Amino acid sequence: MSAPGPVGWRRPDPPMPVVSFVDLDDTLFRSPARGGHGRAVTVTRDGRPYSYMSPQQQQLFALLRRAGRVIPTTARVPEQLRRVRLPFDDCAICANGAVILEPDGARVSAWAKRVTDRVAGLSAEPEAILRLARSVPGGSDLRIEAVAVDGRPLMVDARHPERRIPPLRPWAREVRRRLPDDWILDRARDRALLYPRGVDKRSAVRWFIEHRVEQPALILGAGDRQGDHGFMAACDFAMMPTGSVLFEAAAPSDHG
Ligand SMILES: [Mg+2]
Repeated sequence: MSAPGPVGWRRPDPPMPVVSFVDLDDTLFRSPARGGHGRAVTVTRDGRPYSYMSPQQQQLFALLRRAGRVIPTTARVPEQLRRVRLPFDDCAICANGAVILEPDGARVSAWAKRVTDRVAGLSAEPEAILRLARSVPGGSDLRIEAVAVDGRPLMVDARHPERRIPPLRPWAREVRRRLPDDWILDRARDRALLYPRGVDKRSAVRWFIEHRVEQPALILGAGDRQGDHGFMAACDFAMMPTGSVLFEAAAPSDHG
């Protein structure tokens, strides 16, 4: 009897297209305050280097690009995304899902219309959420600002000026208690983002997969914080940096 050869597995033919939805900050690169080092890949508004890509992060990006399409999936608004000096050549999901860009930078209009309709139907306008966030006890110790998309406030960003976490925690608890059901507060470490339900990375990625991804496809998602979990769940496989808040949250409870 001849020795059994490899059975069962065969490379897919034709190969399945691969689409990766990749969060940027703290996933693909980091600022020095978060341990970022290596090659500078983003700049501040006045042109100074801000975030860095380690050799491993560079290799991961190269690997995903070689595998197929890479769709940045980021809270950065389009103006901030332009300050990322990486060769993105496909669509981009930005402003935490509020905006989807075509490869040439134009808005994906079908998605833009959905977002406009959704925002028009909100029980509380972004300005009211901004006032709420500032009025909650502890709010005056934080830097709380509206995030505008196309010149209109859409989300609220809150952070501790000295990157301290404890002052943010009780504030976030209280904001959540008072927040209308159609708004979400996503807090990770020293920063929180408030955004309308349905105008988020998860909704944008799901829409994108349905309308802009040829099926069948292998869909990968990479992110670093709880707010990324929703869009990663829309993918076939999820990837996160070790050391990220999301990875830490996945630690078995009986270990350490
Ligand atoms: Mg991130």
